[in-house]
Amino acid sequence: MNVIAKPDTPTRQLMSGNEAIARAVWEAGCRVAAAYPGTPSTEILENLARYKDIHANWATNEKTSLEIVIGASVAGSRAFSAMKHVGMNVASDALMSQTLAGVGGGLVIAIADDVGLSSSQNEQDSRFWGRFGHLPILEPSDSQEAYEMVKAAFDLSERFECPVIVRLTTRICHVKGLVTVGAREERPSQGFRHDSARWVLVPANAKRRLAAQFERDARLLALAEDSPFNRVDEGKDKRIGFVASGPAYMHVKEAFPDAPVLKLGLTCPVPVETVRAFAGTVKALVVAEETEPLVERDLKAAGIACHGKDILPRSGELSPAILLPAVKALLGEPWEPQATLQPQVFPRPPTMCVGCPHLPAYYCLSRLRRQVNIAGDIGCYTLGAGQPWNALDTTTCMGASMGMALGMDLGRAEADKDKAVIGVIGDSTFLHMGMQGLIDIAYNKGNVTILILDNSAAGMTGGQDHAGTGRDAGGQDAPRVDFRKLVEALGVKAERIHVVDPYEMPTLYKHLREEIAIPEPSVIITQRPCVLIDRFHRDPPFKVVEETCTGCSNCLNVGCPAIHVTRRASETRPSGKVVEKSWVRIDTAACTGCGLCPKTCGPKAILPARESLES
Ligand code: SF4
Ligand code: SF4
Repeated sequence: MNVIAKPDTPTRQLMSGNEAIARAVWEAGCRVAAAYPGTPSTEILENLARYKDIHANWATNEKTSLEIVIGASVAGSRAFSAMKHVGMNVASDALMSQTLAGVGGGLVIAIADDVGLSSSQNEQDSRFWGRFGHLPILEPSDSQEAYEMVKAAFDLSERFECPVIVRLTTRICHVKGLVTVGAREERPSQGFRHDSARWVLVPANAKRRLAAQFERDARLLALAEDSPFNRVDEGKDKRIGFVASGPAYMHVKEAFPDAPVLKLGLTCPVPVETVRAFAGTVKALVVAEETEPLVERDLKAAGIACHGKDILPRSGELSPAILLPAVKALLGEPWEPQATLQPQVFPRPPTMCVGCPHLPAYYCLSRLRRQVNIAGDIGCYTLGAGQPWNALDTTTCMGASMGMALGMDLGRAEADKDKAVIGVIGDSTFLHMGMQGLIDIAYNKGNVTILILDNSAAGMTGGQDHAGTGRDAGGQDAPRVDFRKLVEALGVKAERIHVVDPYEMPTLYKHLREEIAIPEPSVIITQRPCVLIDRFHRDPPFKVVEETCTGCSNCLNVGCPAIHVTRRASETRPSGKVVEKSWVRIDTAACTGCGLCPKTCGPKAILPARESLES
């Protein structure tokens, strides 16, 4: 196994884990890489796309990305795919079959877990996929290890003829460290070896491959017991010994610098006998692993006494602030929290961008709120569930808005019989996993209206291109999916499809009102680029004329962060009703001039900034 890369011309570079992984993939002679963007893994492919010797592309979803690299591997090339934890759920169908067939050229999959849920709908432990798929898992603790393990993973993949998973977490992906890098090793494709008994997984062939998989399990266990990635850091204080992996290892070293630590880099399969020998050198054993107790369970099943989730939390990161009190309590020692300087950051809820083209859609939906149930989706659109719009009723997983909207129509109760059902999805998300749900809506004649918010980017992950943007991962021109034609091809009648400019809000609202009244599948596609991508053009800003503003606060319902409240007051009407008033101003430096808020202002207090200055 190639443990420490020995570059011909060593250089040290400051790299995030994602950058280091991309570098290692390139150096390992990988020829094909594919991914779908997903925080925290997105930058791996973005960096790979800069290396000319690799074909690196954005795929429509994680399953197709894995299938692309499986094909490249079967064709004899080293291949790589990266995804976030929930992405592996999508890709798992391909993974769970390929684990039987194995690989041609080395095949490495990086899965980045969002430990602590900073930008995901759930927290998952991707180490389960190693157990599920009988595959080795490597877990780096910093950028240097991420680099070394990815290179080793390609060798391991070819030696054991199976995909190898490198499990990352947000901390590994985004934290920078010095990395000693090397040169690219050219690995020409070995060519496709025809072997239908292996590559064609009909039941008879798959059954034969099961025996090979079990034999591989035994060889992998022997490797884990002997792997240089599993090593002991000796320590003077033998009262507690730690078994740790990934970033938890770094946290243990910081919190307990004198404790012995068995650092696991190859965490699947668990080297039980190595741990048993280590346990014999310390008084008590603590397994520090984020998030699920996988190593702990394997050890307990093997009769090794240890602490783990009985004293440590089941979710989130295991920082020193969490480890210290838990382990001190185990030792029966008092622990005084250290006074630390906390950065003073004013908390604010996540919000849409200034002038975001999704604002008019959510403003319109908020106006229809009492008449509709709305199935939402993953991405920037999720923010529509918050204030001031409250325009989503559900968000489950990528693409689910389509099927769930159909289900909300089919399963509606008597109380909802007069309500329309709307599904909201983004352009990249629609291509990722929404299309199939729309086929179901059209095929099953669902009484559903779908809003496809096309902002010409995978917005939430940083504006990456996709098959609907007309550009590839390298920024070159590419064929562009025509959403209107696609939707029609999926079975929606041409007259029930509308493509609108969302900033033309009255037109958008009119189409929405009309379509929810017609009991047929319909689709409204809003098209305007995301304000954060380079194709977006700003227009001259708007300004509030103070004397004209009545404080009605209608414009605040647009939800644009460039509109600020300057003064609040209560006013009692002649009828006795108390009305809350909010007077506003527009941050003209931030305003993109989208022209939305003027459309909501009855007294016409919002004017182009130059015009209002002249008036
Ligand atoms: S015109 Fe209004 S809604 Fe549009 S960016 Fe400016 S302040 Fe925001
Ligand atoms: S909608 Fe017009 S009048 Fe009402 S608060 Fe906004 S700027 Fe003032």
